[in-house]
Amino acid sequence: MRLKIGIWGFQPGYEIILEQIGIPYEKISEDTNITLENYSVIIISEIVQESDKPVILEYLNTGGSVLLNARCWANLYRKKLKQKKVRFLISDNNSIYSSLGLVDIYTKISFVDSRELDILDEGLKIYSTKIGNGFALIFPFEINSLVLDTQSLRKRFYTERKELPSEIVARVSKGKLRELVRISLERLHHKRGLPFVHKWYFPDSSENVFIFRLDTDFCSSHQANNMVEVCRKNGISATWFLDTTSKERLQNYAEMKDQELALHCDRHLVFDDYKSNLDNIKTALSKLEKSRINPTGFAAPFGDWNPELAKVLDDINLEYSSEFTLDYDDLPFYPFINGKFSKVLQIPIHPISLGWLRRSHFLPKEMLNYYLRLIDDKFHSNEPIIIYHHPHQEYLDILDQVFQSVNKYKIQKMTMFEYAKWWKKRIDTQPDLYFEETSLRSNLEKGDISLRITLEKGSIITKLNKRIDLANLKFIKQKKVERQPDLNRLRKWCWRDVLYNYESIRGKRKK
Ligand SMILES: [Zn+2]
Repeated sequence: MRLKIGIWGFQPGYEIILEQIGIPYEKISEDTNITLENYSVIIISEIVQESDKPVILEYLNTGGSVLLNARCWANLYRKKLKQKKVRFLISDNNSIYSSLGLVDIYTKISFVDSRELDILDEGLKIYSTKIGNGFALIFPFEINSLVLDTQSLRKRFYTERKELPSEIVARVSKGKLRELVRISLERLHHKRGLPFVHKWYFPDSSENVFIFRLDTDFCSSHQANNMVEVCRKNGISATWFLDTTSKERLQNYAEMKDQELALHCDRHLVFDDYKSNLDNIKTALSKLEKSRINPTGFAAPFGDWNPELAKVLDDINLEYSSEFTLDYDDLPFYPFINGKFSKVLQIPIHPISLGWLRRSHFLPKEMLNYYLRLIDDKFHSNEPIIIYHHPHQEYLDILDQVFQSVNKYKIQKMTMFEYAKWWKKRIDTQPDLYFEETSLRSNLEKGDISLRITLEKGSIITKLNKRIDLANLKFIKQKKVERQPDLNRLRKWCWRDVLYNYESIRGKRKK
């Protein structure tokens, strides 16, 4: 039995998510031999033509698992569809999706009469049903278009206090949608009595990674040197995104041999057009070259991103970039722009910096707690821990304590470049996986990649190997992550958002 997902039609958004999760998949169509043996799950998010319906229905009726959206479901079974525009959905307290909490979607959702279906999550409007011997799981939204959304807006982030920190970030919670798909695929595999197997997110079976990003934003050499001292004391090689306006300061950075040096900007701006972005980046690159700095990656000022900037990055061929208005709190991926996949790996980070906590009137103790909680949450939800800071804002005591706490976990400290390189190796490692009674077979030998295998009773991380005997593995019950209370308040209108947005526009005009 082959463990492989079939995607009906061209769905680049789904391809991004399945690549992030690290599960084998391929595109399928009416010409594909769609059998229970060949595909562990089929994803349908494009309307199926009348003449192709029998193949899908046969797969379902004989015991297949299908993931589809309500629109396709209504089309397949000739049901009536209702639609409604929503900004966000909130998961139920006690469902398999509880940990997701608030999911921003800003789209039209569709639903069919749910009386015929089983509720998997009322809040998220996710339903399931048995069909013949098979099982269908139904989403109210179109994952593909949501993942490809490139709009951004100011969002507030959860903490247990009244005034919340905010930042302008990607409008759609893409990381949560990825997790929603993972949980759903896991369910659909288990329903067929199959293990759910995907490539692990971190190298060497490590339980997580920690990456510290610094945007220099015209900080003094003195401030930079103080910062690097705290990093070194805690064994951290940070990734420094450099502004290039001062030759003396670049000289100082060039001497930091144990840190990663990357590119931020010359003028601290992202432009709407190709030429201005190219000029700004080329000026910065030539200044870096004169200081003998060879930048590995790029992070745009203000986390701003647009397709014209993406084109420039593609053309100058850097290893990776990192912009939270495209995506945040998620796994790396290649963006899909203007009909093709970019060559520059996008590495999302957590977008709230100490600067924003200060603006939201956090006391030092609250700032520290914000990050300690974030690290713990990310550790338990298997999301890379990537935070960022501006050295001119200092707060070295707080960062020192954050680093000490990171050092207590069994996690790998990496630079962005190291993680990007490893992630690309992970993408290149594409094992064919087969499940045979109690064992897992792969066509690939041991490498740098581990697999996460889950059964209904629990999960385990183990090195990729030609043969893995499941009976010999000790599966560990997965820890349930509780959803935070009172999430609605995150999206209630707030005068501060208006003020901050005004200041943000004004700040960019002045530069
Ligand atoms: Zn900056």
